[in-house]
Formats: sequence, C-alpha cells, structure tokens
Amino acid sequence: MPTPEQCFALALEAFAGRRFELGSGSGKMLRILLGGHDLDASITPSGIRVSFGGRTHDYMPETAPAIVSWLLDAAGAQPDTREITASIGPAEMRTYGIWRLSRLHVRLSATRELIAIRVRSAAEALDVPLPLPRPLPEPPYVVLPERCPHCGEVPERYRVLHDWSLVCLACGRSQPARDQPSNG
Ligand SMILES: [Zn+2]
Repeated sequence: MPTPEQCFALALEAFAGRRFELGSGSGKMLRILLGGHDLDASITPSGIRVSFGGRTHDYMPETAPAIVSWLLDAAGAQPDTREITASIGPAEMRTYGIWRLSRLHVRLSATRELIAIRVRSAAEALDVPLPLPRPLPEPPYVVLPERCPHCGEVPERYRVLHDWSLVCLACGRSQPARDQPSNG
C-alpha cells in the first residue's frame, strides 16, 4: 500500500504527463467529486480532503493519481500543465455503477505541496473558494451553587440552552428557563 506521500508524488507525475487507470476506489471517488456538489478538494502529502456543503471529508489518498489523471485528460491538459480550467461533461459515466456527469467546470492546479481541485456548476464560481466550514459553537456553561431539582446534586456546571433553561451535567435533565442575564 503506497503511503500518502507516495500517492501525492504519483499525482504530481500525472501533471507531468503520466497516466494512471481508474480502479474501483478511484472510480467511486470520481463519482463523489463530480456527483453534483460544488466542492473544493485538496490533495497533499497528508491525503485528500474535500469540502462541500459546509463540511470537510477525508478520503483515501490511493485514489489521487487516477483521479488527477482522469480529470486532466477530461480537461484536455498537455503534459507539464500546472494549472488548467475547463468544462467537462455532460457524459454517461461507468466508473462506479452507471451515472450521469452533468456539465461541470473544473480547475486543477499543482505545486510541490498542494494539488487543488475546484468543481463548480457555474464557471464564474471557479474564482471563489468555498467558505471554510465553521466550527460548531461551544455550548455555554455556567457554574451555579444551586442544587438540581431532579437529582439534588450541585453539578460541576450547568449547560445553558437557547431559551436559558439549564441542563444539569450530573443527571442530564433540564429545569425551566431562568431570567436572561442582563448586561446592565
Ligand atoms: Zn441533576
């Protein structure tokens, strides 16, 4: 099994002109990449990370050389291309089951550290990176001396819900909303 670093090096060789055939894993990955989401994918010596729908997903790096090969061919890239923008599809695909590739706009670029792939349904959207996913907000907690009416404990902390009700971290049950603290 090649390491993520080796996979990245082979994917860079695809930019130089070498070609790698799609297998079942890379065929599935291609279907994920071109299945209809606007997405940004980055291939690095650490692996493949794909962002779409406000989330990021990590994938197996072994698929990278064949994925990059297929996309460069579909885009009509010449050997030693470092960046290319093209539209691909529509087409009927048979890489992982039979599926339909809609008309999409793709941009691929390569440096020694990063292969970046953008997939968009609109060409003008290629210039705009997708927003980075926001970390989930930390739920607010309060420390209170009061005993929980359910379990009678004074929990280490209470979690504060949107309506200002309090969840006891000792027993997990909530009590009615408190008055919202004022800033004055
Ligand atoms: Zn409790």
